[in-house]
Amino acid sequence: MSLEFSSIVDAASILDGFAHVTPVHTSTTLDDLSGSQVLLKCENFQKTGSFKFRGAYTALSRLKLPERERGVLTFSSGNHAQALALAGRLLGCPTTIVMPDDAPKVKLDATRGYGGQVVVYDRDETSREALGAKLSKERGLTIVPPYDHPDIVAGQGTVAKELFEQVGHLDFLFVPCGGGGLLSGCSLTAKSLYPTCQVIGVEPATADDATQSFVSKTLVKVHNPPTIADGARTPSLGELTFELVLRFVDDMLTVDDAELLEAMVFLWQRCKLMVEPTGALGLAGLLKKKPGGRCGVILSGGNADFPSLLNLL
Ligand SMILES: *Cc1c(COP(=O)(O)O)cnc(C)c1O
Repeated sequence: MSLEFSSIVDAASILDGFAHVTPVHTSTTLDDLSGSQVLLKCENFQKTGSFKFRGAYTALSRLKLPERERGVLTFSSGNHAQALALAGRLLGCPTTIVMPDDAPKVKLDATRGYGGQVVVYDRDETSREALGAKLSKERGLTIVPPYDHPDIVAGQGTVAKELFEQVGHLDFLFVPCGGGGLLSGCSLTAKSLYPTCQVIGVEPATADDATQSFVSKTLVKVHNPPTIADGARTPSLGELTFELVLRFVDDMLTVDDAELLEAMVFLWQRCKLMVEPTGALGLAGLLKKKPGGRCGVILSGGNADFPSLLNLL
């Protein structure tokens, strides 16, 4: 598996007119605080509230018609599930989402609201992989994973392409990292368009598998890490995303939950931007590093569970 920048250019034309062109926000206070010129790419305003729509829509668009008509399946209960459900509805592709029966009700409701068929399972009795494999075989469904897939990575890489088109050259680009789909796509874009731009992946300190993998050059796994950044609790990078991260990312950084909360509160109070914990990883990384120069920061999503967020604060 690998990926060329031309695939990201093609994904951008697939998304043209179907995904939002998200705005870029600036803040003088943030520039002063970080000693940098900061450009915030607001994917919290993307359809379904996160960049995941870009990858999901690209992947479903590239399916052959018979596969698309039979439908697709995924396991993720997070933003990928909602993104896939909406992309499926727009493209006439039935979507089946396998979720644990204890998944938050808001997530079940949102996924159903976008037209996804939710199949719940009991964590203690079945593994989602076993159930997913059974369903995909029985019903002829194509599995669309949340990050380790060339079409998903190509779609996510359009975030950086769009940002560069909006703001031109950057010295640094800060990107949240879970399974590495967003980071690998955006780093490939950066190195193709502005090779001198330093791409920095940011992870939660307790879920630093990608940082460890980056440093050791072997794929490291972290089991069920505790962090408020639920979108980055993935056990490890994928095969494709690991390869691309090693080739195109310049450095990795970690931030703790307190630093994430601080970044979220800043965005809320000073910029009037609602971002979920995982979506604030890039800004928390920037505020930690304070590199100077022109810095792009991807705010990757805004689907916070507000009652529990208020509890945290
Ligand atoms: C999924 C997700 C991430 C992490 O993306 P990966 O491609 O898995 O690295 C970051 N932020 C938000 C809001 C997400 O939904």
